Amino acid sequence: MICYYCHEAVRKEVDIVNLFKKRVPLCDGCRDALSRWRAGKRCGFCHRLMQTDETVCLDCRFLSSRFRPPESITCLLDYHGAVKMLFHRYKFTGDCALAEVVAMFLDSRFREYDVIIPIPISKARMEERGYDQTTMVLEAKGVAYSPFLETKTRSRQSGLGKVERARRENPFLLTCRHEDLAGKRILLVDDIYTTGMTVHQAMEKLYTFSPGTIDVLTFSKA
Ligand SMILES: [Zn+2]
Ligand SMILES: [Zn+2]
Repeated sequence: MICYYCHEAVRKEVDIVNLFKKRVPLCDGCRDALSRWRAGKRCGFCHRLMQTDETVCLDCRFLSSRFRPPESITCLLDYHGAVKMLFHRYKFTGDCALAEVVAMFLDSRFREYDVIIPIPISKARMEERGYDQTTMVLEAKGVAYSPFLETKTRSRQSGLGKVERARRENPFLLTCRHEDLAGKRILLVDDIYTTGMTVHQAMEKLYTFSPGTIDVLTFSKA
């Protein structure tokens, strides 16, 4: 078979160990390259690489001054060159087979949650891309999810400063009933966690329906 990332043939000697392993769409070299983490001091909560003189994560401090935080944030892949290229190809060049590659890095923690809610993409982005990059990974892994959030208008935020983003109104709507979330263990899933604003705005909506806990899973942390 061909590696989905480098397009080289994956040669596997069949032995008693890998005979029973699930077939994977990634060669060992690409798997190692993608799962590498850059060295350096990281925020213990959001996993951002911090400056050497930074004692408190400024992103987390800013967000916790405005929003109730999640219980935890799990990040599957560090956002270095190989991972950036993976997401660029996956999101912007229509290489949707790469959903299988991202899905390889998911483990079985989904079983610990009552409700798994993806951050949705805007209708405009869906029309332009033709697929939702977050739910497609969940589907590749066979994870059942609940599309309880919808976007009003999620404008491109990358060019805006933090304060400007915070001033914008919450772009999400809840499409479920109170009892769908009340007391439940919720996992909120996003593709790339940048400043965390999007995830926190989504949680702000979810918290209005009194969930038990909310944890966040992000495929990568910019
Ligand atoms: Zn490869
Ligand atoms: Zn942080």
